[in-house]
Amino acid sequence: MRRRFRRRRYARHRNPTRMRAIERAANDLVRRFRSQCPACAHPGFDVTDRVPGLPCEGCGEPTHVICSEAFTCQACDYRQERRATSPMTAEAGRCGMSSTLSPQEPHGGSS
Ligand SMILES: [Zn+2]
Ligand SMILES: [Zn+2]
Repeated sequence: MRRRFRRRRYARHRNPTRMRAIERAANDLVRRFRSQCPACAHPGFDVTDRVPGLPCEGCGEPTHVICSEAFTCQACDYRQERRATSPMTAEAGRCGMSSTLSPQEPHGGSS
């Protein structure tokens, strides 16, 4: 006689209440992150500037296409840049604008 031990996985219990709580927390976080200054929590942390310089997919030169958005706090001048587009490159043919760009390129770190 064969004895077979079958391990039964526990049925995954999804706790709807908990799921909803997590979801709500996430949404809340997103909303707060979008509108409140991360430095001083002042509301009204919003896009104040759009930074061009998305690289051309053909030659890699920076274009005038918006690459990131700058958020600035109205209260403490905290500034943060975030990528504004999902594609990493601009379509070819938009390049040749590099001379009009400011020499300083946005860098991720803020210190
Ligand atoms: Zn602030
Ligand atoms: Zn190009």
